[in-house]
Amino acid sequence: MLTARWDKKLAPLGRSLTVGNRFIGIRVFKTIVMFPEYINQLFYLVGEVVVLLVVLILIMSIIVSMLVLYSFKTGNFFAARYMLLGIVLLENVITALFWISRADDSIIDDVGVRLRNYINNKEYLKVPYSMRFIFMPQCVRSTQCPAKLTPEGIKCVNCGLCGVGEAKKYAESLGYRFFIVPGSSFIKRIIKKYQPRAIVGVGCHMEIKEGLDLCHRYGIPARGVQLLKAGCVATTLDWEQFYENITEKEPSIKNT
Ligand code: SF4
Repeated sequence: MLTARWDKKLAPLGRSLTVGNRFIGIRVFKTIVMFPEYINQLFYLVGEVVVLLVVLILIMSIIVSMLVLYSFKTGNFFAARYMLLGIVLLENVITALFWISRADDSIIDDVGVRLRNYINNKEYLKVPYSMRFIFMPQCVRSTQCPAKLTPEGIKCVNCGLCGVGEAKKYAESLGYRFFIVPGSSFIKRIIKKYQPRAIVGVGCHMEIKEGLDLCHRYGIPARGVQLLKAGCVATTLDWEQFYENITEKEPSIKNT
């Protein structure tokens, strides 16, 4: 037999009236608000859809988290574009899963950057050196750097106090344009002014992620090289990895 009961589920709005498992209406102060049958069904439907969505998001996040760990360990990517979409859309849930399982959540950013590089790789390699730009963060410089700030970025004088001078000289000998970035809006301004065909950007996870997204919006294939030690001053870079990245190109592509 079905029995009517009041419960506090909707407090502080009011108490809900249910018969068996069916939601009939709510009592707000002394007034009982009865809902028509179709509204009751709508409430149940919305509830079921929300629960399904939460379960779906959780399952998807677990799958993407496992793919991120797999890629981090093996260096291989499975369904790269879908995986990147998953990371972008579910980043907060995936980060929470990493946090709960006490895994290092910087792995997500690391794999995100490598995935973007992997997806851009084919188009990037087609661009000759002379149409590529390099953006180097100013924090890689020596703390005693004598370089001056100009409208074209910080102008390195190759004083030998850090690796930037040699890198600039070598990159320019290949045909690259090399910029030391003084601030966040600089890259956008240079892209608009000179319209490079490909970009190599050095930075921390966050800078690279933002830079690669910016290049994606401008349709420019870009490659991110991550700093070994991030921070605002005296950061470090794996220079060997940097040189490998800038010298790569398709053998059939001429240099001009
Ligand atoms: S090599 Fe260039 S960037 Fe490095 S400290 Fe000297 S002037 Fe500054």
